[in-house]
Amino acid sequence: MKKSTEDVFTAKDIRLTTMRILIYEYLETVTAALSLSEIEKYFHKADKVTIYRTLQTFQEKGLVHKILDENMAKYSICAEVCSEDNHKDRHLHFYCKKCHETTCRQEIIFPENMEPGLQIDEIQILAKGICEKCLKSG
Ligand SMILES: [Zn+2]
Ligand SMILES: [Zn+2]
Ligand SMILES: [Zn+2]
Repeated sequence: MKKSTEDVFTAKDIRLTTMRILIYEYLETVTAALSLSEIEKYFHKADKVTIYRTLQTFQEKGLVHKILDENMAKYSICAEVCSEDNHKDRHLHFYCKKCHETTCRQEIIFPENMEPGLQIDEIQILAKGICEKCLKSG
């Protein structure tokens, strides 16, 4: 069963505000990661600083992770195991050269101790190519 936004926020110690709920639920409905400008465009009536701060809070609390693709930073919801200052997003990200969408590939995960002797806090692995949707539409 899908957790309610309230439960998700409570589990990650995030105070509920209308804007936070709206942004989280928007990120939840889309399959691709979203850039700050895409989120701003969708909430064009909202204060940009609030949107930016909300994403910062989400990142700090382990709710959302930032992905750097070809040209920009994008945001996507984390797996449940992420927590405050402890992101465990070690999955592959895929950037489509045709539709420019970036998606999380949770099924391709890199091991936690890839390189003994190193402390790896964050991992950014980006594959580029053509996504399923674009391949189908030719
Ligand atoms: Zn994370
Ligand atoms: Zn595509
Ligand atoms: Zn991801």
